[in-house]
Amino acid sequence: MALSPSHRVSSGERINISSEPGRLENELARRGIRLTRQRRTLLRIIDTAPEHLNVEVLLEKAQHADPRLNRVTVYRTLDLLKRHGLVDELDLLHLRGHQHFYETRGPRDHIHVACLGCGKVREVESELFDRLKQQIARDCDVEITVARTEIGGYCAACRRKA
Ligand SMILES: [Zn+2]
Ligand SMILES: [Zn+2]
Repeated sequence: MALSPSHRVSSGERINISSEPGRLENELARRGIRLTRQRRTLLRIIDTAPEHLNVEVLLEKAQHADPRLNRVTVYRTLDLLKRHGLVDELDLLHLRGHQHFYETRGPRDHIHVACLGCGKVREVESELFDRLKQQIARDCDVEITVARTEIGGYCAACRRKA
């Protein structure tokens, strides 16, 4: 495996768009979980989403593939993925209301940077963040299993408009 670069920033919304469609399905299969066709449809969408998905968007995309797929299946599938630690749930600073967003977990934790003006979201992975977590793990004697950091501000385009 190639060494991770010390620092990566997304140009679009997400860094960890799966280069390996089927990753979530394989992870669940390894845990002995059988999946219906509808669940596989949802996993494929989550695996390859270029943005953070809320339930509405996920449902809409899923119904393109299978019009009978309903909201209950979306919620149950997200619950399953959360229980297995395969997706993260975020609120993105509530910039888009009180809905929650979901994304697959990548190999490294990332920081979300959101523009409070236009709502654009980007992701940053950094060795500094990895080291900060190591320091916190030592300082607080905690085994970190989740790290969620959201930073808000104004992007260059919004600053020019102001
Ligand atoms: Zn993200
Ligand atoms: Zn902006």
